[in-house]
Amino acid sequence: MKEVKHVAVLGGGAAGFFAALSAKAHHPQAVVTLFEKTSKVLAKVKVSGGGRCNVTNATADIDTLCSAYPRGGKQLRNSFYRFNTSDTQEWFESRGVMLKTESDGRVFPISNDSQTIIDCLLNEAQAAGVHISYQVAIKSMYFKKNSWYLSCVNNDLSQSFDAVIVATGGSPKSSGFDWLEALGHVIVPPVPSLFTFNMPNESITRLSGVVVEQAQVIIKGHGIETSGPLLITHWGMSGPAILKASAFGARILSSSKYNFETQINWVGERNTELLFQQLEQCAAAYPQKLIGNQKAFPLPTRLWQFLIEKSGIPSDKKWIELGKKQARQFAELLSNDVYAVSGKTTFKEEFVTCGGLALSNINLKTMESKSNPGLYFAGEVLDIDAITGGYNFQAAWTTGFLAGQLT
Ligand SMILES: Cc1cc2nc3c(=O)[nH]c(=O)nc-3n(C[C@H](O)[C@H](O)[C@H](O)COP(=O)(O)OP(=O)(O)OC[C@H]3O[C@@H](n4cnc5c(N)ncnc54)[C@H](O)[C@@H]3O)c2cc1C
Repeated sequence: MKEVKHVAVLGGGAAGFFAALSAKAHHPQAVVTLFEKTSKVLAKVKVSGGGRCNVTNATADIDTLCSAYPRGGKQLRNSFYRFNTSDTQEWFESRGVMLKTESDGRVFPISNDSQTIIDCLLNEAQAAGVHISYQVAIKSMYFKKNSWYLSCVNNDLSQSFDAVIVATGGSPKSSGFDWLEALGHVIVPPVPSLFTFNMPNESITRLSGVVVEQAQVIIKGHGIETSGPLLITHWGMSGPAILKASAFGARILSSSKYNFETQINWVGERNTELLFQQLEQCAAAYPQKLIGNQKAFPLPTRLWQFLIEKSGIPSDKKWIELGKKQARQFAELLSNDVYAVSGKTTFKEEFVTCGGLALSNINLKTMESKSNPGLYFAGEVLDIDAITGGYNFQAAWTTGFLAGQLT
């Protein structure tokens, strides 16, 4: 293990705190100073998960965990063997933060209050002797005679450091990474991830509030397919299936300037012949019932009636009157319903940018820069991001923990 006397951690978010605590745990003699550009630390933790902080996910299987990261999952595989979702839960619980797992696997503090996580991290930092320096925005750094020197907007810090951990988070603009590029690193241009779809010209928005428990979302022509709950909103579509599609399609949807078509399969079954047969069975079972009143699939009634109308079937038609041609068209619509998307809306519960410092710049075992010895990275500053569910914080905890080892 390297001998380090002075360590600087840049950024007081989840990754910065975990890196600072890990540095103190692995190098108890080192003086660890965390520099935060604003007057508040852990600001995103505070607002995360709608104020409840979805601190991690209960997924224990590493392959399943990796599949939640459109960018970085493959590269983080070995890192997750060293610090994963179980380690996160144990870390917090052993420090008195009781956690609970919701039915979809998201893990929250039992208090349902993100302040519990903030208090834990602040108490740990204080107990470990991490110095926190507020309102210090680092704008550049240089390496001279085996030490790192940091500069702020108006002055250079007099202290030199043996190691620097950069945990400054994401940036919506490439220029936010200029100072890291200046050190010879490759930056992947940032684009938003985790957004909902705007459908200004689609009348389905009048069903605002309707939820389909298991829909399939396909981004046409790009091989992106996701599934899960889908929520119809007054501006378009949201919910886990849509957010996942936005994350996996973040880059191509950005290049399309958020004008694209999405295909929805409302019933999960792709084989239209099978769907047609199910419609015929319904017709045989309920010949005299109105199609609008007797659903063939367990869809919300408002959606069922909307789809019948979209398919051109009159609302007063009985099942016995549904001809084969119309039944086939309806089967096609149920499994392949196309909507024009024009624009996106930020998902306020959780949003991230994809892009940042390319993972090829760093040694993933140590999180150290390949070109700058003694310089480490953790958290969203890296080109790592995940779908919703606590995975983004998990990446911050894992990379922060590893970077703080300073090996
Ligand atoms: C509204 C919202 C809700 C979210 N909810 C969840 C959730 O429930 N679960 C989940 O897993 N993820 C969630 N996320 C994503 C998660 O918050 C981020 O992935 C995570 O905070 C990244 O941590 P970080 O420490 O890398 O960066 P950040 O949290 O962004 O922290 C970076 C810190 O560095 C500081 N900084 C920046 N530049 C400098 C500089 N030059 N010098 C000094 N300091 C600097 C910043 O002020 C900031 O305090 C949410 C995100 C948002 C926006």
